[in-house]
Amino acid sequence: MFQGLLPSEELLSRRHVLTMLPQCGACGLHKTCKSPKMHVDGKGKAKILILGEAPGREEDVQGRPFVGVSGDYLKQVTRKLGLDLREDCWLFNALSCRPENNKIKNKKSIEFCRPFVIKAIQELQPELIIPLGKVAVSSLSGWIWKEDPGPISRWVGWQIPCQQLNAWICPNYHPAHVLRADEKTGEKLLLEKFFYHYFRKALDCPGRPWKSLPNYESKIQRIYDAESAQKEVQSFFTSSPVAFDFETDRLKPDHPDAKILCCSLSDGKRTISFPWYGKVVEAMKSWLTSPTPKVGANSKFESRWCLAKLGAEPKNWVWDTVVNAHILDGRRGITGVKFQSFALLGADSYEEGLKAYMQAETSNTENTLRHVNLDKLLLYCGKDALFELQIAKIQARQLGRSL
Ligand code: URA
Repeated sequence: MFQGLLPSEELLSRRHVLTMLPQCGACGLHKTCKSPKMHVDGKGKAKILILGEAPGREEDVQGRPFVGVSGDYLKQVTRKLGLDLREDCWLFNALSCRPENNKIKNKKSIEFCRPFVIKAIQELQPELIIPLGKVAVSSLSGWIWKEDPGPISRWVGWQIPCQQLNAWICPNYHPAHVLRADEKTGEKLLLEKFFYHYFRKALDCPGRPWKSLPNYESKIQRIYDAESAQKEVQSFFTSSPVAFDFETDRLKPDHPDAKILCCSLSDGKRTISFPWYGKVVEAMKSWLTSPTPKVGANSKFESRWCLAKLGAEPKNWVWDTVVNAHILDGRRGITGVKFQSFALLGADSYEEGLKAYMQAETSNTENTLRHVNLDKLLLYCGKDALFELQIAKIQARQLGRSL
C-alpha cells in the first residue's frame, strides 16, 4: 500500500473514535448554568428516546429536560398519539448543560457532550430514537454516520433502520422551531402538521429494525485477477436487473489519461467487484451493451465513461436511484447513494476513509484513489453496487412500480 504523505484510511476513519473521548467541562457551560450535567428523565416504557438540543431556562431551574414550553408542546402531541411523554419515553438532550441565553456559541460543545448521549443510548437500548432539530441530529450523526449531517430539512420524516444501534432513528423538527414559526404566513400550521405527521410515522416503526444484521463485507466477492473476473461476469447476463458501478481516477473521462479503476456488479444474490484491466474489459463491454436491465446511481456518469473508454453506452438502463430519489422526495441533499443507503438501509457511512482520496484539483485532474489498498477500494465499489440495487428495490416499491 502507498505509504506517502496521505493519511491512511485507518487513520481517517479513527476520527470517529477520537471525537468520542469524554471532554465534559471543555465547553465551560457547566459554569454558567444552575443544573449542570442534566440526567435522562422519563421511564421509557415504550423504549422511545427523545433527544432534544439543550436544557432551556425552565429546564435549568427544575433540573429536568423538557419541562418548559417545548416540553408542553411535545406532551400535547404525544398525548394525541396515545403516549404518555414521561411514562413511555426517555428524555435527554445533546447538550447536558444549558447554554447561556440558549445560544450554542461553540459548535464543539456538541462533540464534547456526545459521550453522554452515547452512554445513554448504550445503557437504555432504545428501539426508537427521535432526535429533535439539527443539534440533536448532529450529536447522533457524528457518532453513527458523519460529523456534519447538513441541514435538518434533509433529515425530518425519515424512518432510518440504523444498523449500528439496531434502532429506528426518526428525526423531527425541534418543537421550538415549530412554536416560533410565523402564524400569519401559515408556516406554523404547516410545521405543526409536519411535526405531528412525522411523529406518527416514527411510532409506526415496529420493534427493532433488524432480526439479524447484514454482513456486507462477506457478501462482496473481491476478484483480483482479470481472467477470473471475466468468467464471473458471464453469470450477470440475465433478464433481472443488475446494478453496476465504476470507481475512476477523476470525475470526467475526457482526458486521455483518465482511467476506470474498478467496477462492481450486483444482482441481489451476488456482488462482485474487480479491478478494470485485461480480459474483463472486453467481457464488460459485451455485458454493458447486452439487454441485461441495468441499475445505477447517476447513470449519466457511467454512460459518459463507457462512451469515452469503450466507445459504446450501456444499453437498457431501467433504474437510476438518484433520479428516483428525487421523484420520491424533492428535497436537496438526499439523492446520493451514501445518504440513501443510510436513510433507507441504515448502513454505516462507508466513504469516510476514502473521501480524501477522491479529492482532485479539478474534475479533469487525477485523484489519489489508485493509492488506496485494493481490497478496500473493491469493497467500497462493491458496496455502491450492492446498495444501489437494494435502494432501487425500495424506491420501486414506494413508487408502486416493478423493477
Ligand atoms: N428544548 C430542548 O431541546 N430540550 C429541553 O430539554 C427543553 C427544551
